[in-house]
Amino acid sequence: MNEKLLNASAPTLRSFVASSTDPAGDFPIQNLPFGVVDDAACVRIGDMVLSLSDALECGALDLDAIAGGDADARIEVEIAIVHGDNVGDIAALDDITRQRLRSHLAWLLAEESPEQARLERVLRPVSKCTPTLPFRIGDYTDFYASLHHATNVGSMFRPTNPLLPNWKHVPIGYHGRASSIVTSPSVVIRPHGQTVSNDDGPPTFGPCKLMDYELEVGFFVGAGNARGSAINVKDAWNHIFGFVLVNDWSARDMQKWEYQPLGPFLAKNFATTISPWVVTREALEPYRVPGPPRSAEDPLVLPYLDDPYGSNLDITLDVFISSAAMRDQGIAPTLISHGSFRDMFWTPAQMLAHHASNGCNMQTGDLLASGTVSGTTKDSRGCLLERTWRGTEPIQLGDGTERKFLNDGDEVIMRGYCVKPGHPRIGLGECRGIVLPART
Ligand code: CA
Repeated sequence: MNEKLLNASAPTLRSFVASSTDPAGDFPIQNLPFGVVDDAACVRIGDMVLSLSDALECGALDLDAIAGGDADARIEVEIAIVHGDNVGDIAALDDITRQRLRSHLAWLLAEESPEQARLERVLRPVSKCTPTLPFRIGDYTDFYASLHHATNVGSMFRPTNPLLPNWKHVPIGYHGRASSIVTSPSVVIRPHGQTVSNDDGPPTFGPCKLMDYELEVGFFVGAGNARGSAINVKDAWNHIFGFVLVNDWSARDMQKWEYQPLGPFLAKNFATTISPWVVTREALEPYRVPGPPRSAEDPLVLPYLDDPYGSNLDITLDVFISSAAMRDQGIAPTLISHGSFRDMFWTPAQMLAHHASNGCNMQTGDLLASGTVSGTTKDSRGCLLERTWRGTEPIQLGDGTERKFLNDGDEVIMRGYCVKPGHPRIGLGECRGIVLPART
């Protein structure tokens, strides 16, 4: 490679940041996810955070090495690093420049880096940092892409007809709300809303009684598309900047009363928590897998949704709950579910291509989430509605109490990570949120 650039994805590459070499850690030098701390674009390595503007100011980061002689690219990188208060301008860089930035960061942070001494003065422990939203999120869309989730939920409400006739033809989604997206660690106030005790009403207004989480994987759009144009499914992967964990908090009792005929609304839009470090598609490339094969009785996918290269990811996903009592007593969080993102019926490329297929303009920093990630087994179901089967099969927590849905004080902890022989573990980190009592 050229001067001051290293292939960040080389499995043998190591960093001088000691915590990044822990084989059980999420953030080796091959990861280098982007986030925002103190209104500055940063990368995380091990348990440390590097602000790109600090790296430039201390003289370590070299704009010319990133620009590679392209004067326009140099200006754009400089603007993104010096003036950007979030990751948006970095995500909007052309692919070549963005990949050179990644390669330069790998060179800076590698073992025996000539810049080690300078960088050690500006690297900060993540424990002293408070990451905020990585993007100014313009739009947020939530899909419903897990066959097992859609079938489970459908069978609770329509036992004879769990999957609606459109489901295997069209990636189903709805427009969510961007204003209430927050980064982990987060607190979520139990929402008020209309709920009913009989299916036909009348409703009462009060605190949600059936509070739930939804385990999802989200991705941020890098390069968008002009309004009226589309994103080809075969190129859609290259429009994805990176991935995060998403908790789509859900008020099930409110949802049940309001969701027909137009879909989710106030049962969902009071809060969505995301993990703060956006793991780039380049870092996840070794873990890219095709979507599951369609069975013989499944309809053929329409050509505009045919994703021949595959864009699912083999991300292992865990959900834990800890009650307030468990935290007081020092009891470890209880593992509630353990699954994988690899078996999603609709892939990220299909979701993105479908979203833009009508000429809807996707923009840098738009967040698209997958919908609840559920697998075939009981312990891989990604929300309590499914995990406790509408509360009929409560789960046991480490303090001996039972849960059908979330109590006040419960903390939901989601983790996502990729492992494969011959490759370093790449993690998405954690997505945490605590349920606080409803306002009185
Ligand atoms: Ca959802």
